[in-house]
Amino acid sequence: MHAPVLLAAAAALFLAGCSALDGTLAGGSTAEREVAWIERSSRWQVNLATTSARTDRLIRSYLAQGAEAGEVERSLAPLKRCSRSLAQEVGRAPSERLRPIHRLFADACRGLERAIRAQERLFRSNPGRALLEVETGFEGASYRLAEADLELQELIGDDRPLRRSSDPDQGSRIDPALGRVADAITRDRDRPTADGVEVRCWSEEDWLLVRDAMAALDPGNAEDYLGFVNLEHDRVNLNPGVCAGLAALRSGKHTSLAEQAEGALTLGHEVEHLVGPWTQAETECYGLQHVRSIARGLGASRRWADRLADYAWTEIYPEEDEEYVTPRCRNGGPLDLHPTAKRWP
Ligand SMILES: [Zn+2]
Repeated sequence: MHAPVLLAAAAALFLAGCSALDGTLAGGSTAEREVAWIERSSRWQVNLATTSARTDRLIRSYLAQGAEAGEVERSLAPLKRCSRSLAQEVGRAPSERLRPIHRLFADACRGLERAIRAQERLFRSNPGRALLEVETGFEGASYRLAEADLELQELIGDDRPLRRSSDPDQGSRIDPALGRVADAITRDRDRPTADGVEVRCWSEEDWLLVRDAMAALDPGNAEDYLGFVNLEHDRVNLNPGVCAGLAALRSGKHTSLAEQAEGALTLGHEVEHLVGPWTQAETECYGLQHVRSIARGLGASRRWADRLADYAWTEIYPEEDEEYVTPRCRNGGPLDLHPTAKRWP
């Protein structure tokens, strides 16, 4: 017999954070209240998952003649108060569109409370029916929490429907041209994807909210990003500045060297997060070595692509945060993707 551990919705996100920006939220008080609410609900879910994991351990220990029945019953108490803690720690949804999410949370709690009541009966009498109720209750609650998380990603996270366009004036969009370049890298790096890499360029307006909403959904990873990936969806999300640099690169104009190099480097870095898992420093070093192929893939001449790669290595890399650099990143070093080639990066 076992009681399945509730999955923390946050754990399913696998966000990988990147370079720091400032941590302030864009205006719009409804959006702020929404993000705050999501943050509270994520914390609440993490607590629920922790308690549930502890209960699970105690039950296993009880079955192995370790823990006492009383200990198990006491550990169930916080789970029995699921609805109450939802009301106290998370509260009502601050907007109409988040109301269905709150209902999923409330449903999850009712399922969980039913499961706990059944579990208590189990400890007082014979298993049988109660055992079945425990399983169903836990499974139902897990399912609803996961559903709530997915719906949130779709409502205000990076999973909302966007148009496909490579036109930088189109606002938030899925950029097929950048997707193809990213795809070439994952293929090169032997990291197959089911439907190819999706690259999303976010408008100024959407970017901060998407970034903050995703960080709120995953409190363990609440940092600020130039870009971040969604591993579940083989997706790279890029901030508007990065996309502007990549658009300049694609335009074929030999202006804004720094912006273009930063754009290519960030895209290379984020794609490596899909290839990973590496540390930020390893990710950056591999990303650096994709600047040239990204530039070429977006139509740059060989000479301009070389200049961008040189610029990234000599001007950007030395200025980066300590977390993003390593002495192992050098020509012929352990992170060199082409150790026998003379060319670097
Ligand atoms: Zn990163």
